[in-house]
Amino acid sequence: MQVLIYPDPVLRRGGQPITQFDGNLRELADRMMEAMYEEGGVGLAAPQVGVEQKLLVLNPSGSKQDRAGELVLCNPKLTRKKGREFGEEGCLSFPGIHAEVERWIDITVGYQDLDGKEQTMSATGWLSRIIQHEIDHLEGVFFVDRLTATEKMRVKAKLVELESEYRARA
Ligand SMILES: [Zn+2]
Repeated sequence: MQVLIYPDPVLRRGGQPITQFDGNLRELADRMMEAMYEEGGVGLAAPQVGVEQKLLVLNPSGSKQDRAGELVLCNPKLTRKKGREFGEEGCLSFPGIHAEVERWIDITVGYQDLDGKEQTMSATGWLSRIIQHEIDHLEGVFFVDRLTATEKMRVKAKLVELESEYRARA
């Protein structure tokens, strides 16, 4: 399972709502979780592996040895949000780029689990940040879209570099 790198056009398509909660979905979530650990990430959204579905996996520890924080969210949606703060983010689809991004501090998320059952969870800080970053992927939105003008300028050269690497591979 390969993680797509910017500016692969599939990343901009985001995901469609999940309607089939079956063994295939469970297997996809398992494989995404493994790919996330392999790549050293803390979250991964289905469009990042070329699957246009509203599915994301995460583990704030990013460690296969500490799986207590693993979460799989289907069709997630922010239902409540409060407070804003900046924090550093990176993304498996943007290797080598880290930047300060403004996010909600406290959120409540409505989602479905792998059985299709409706669930609600609240999150704050780092976990809240990861969820917002991954939900963005489901809408085809990138963390670099949310940077201040100064941060955008700072990462510009690196984005151009990724673009020319992509063209060289294509
Ligand atoms: Zn990302």
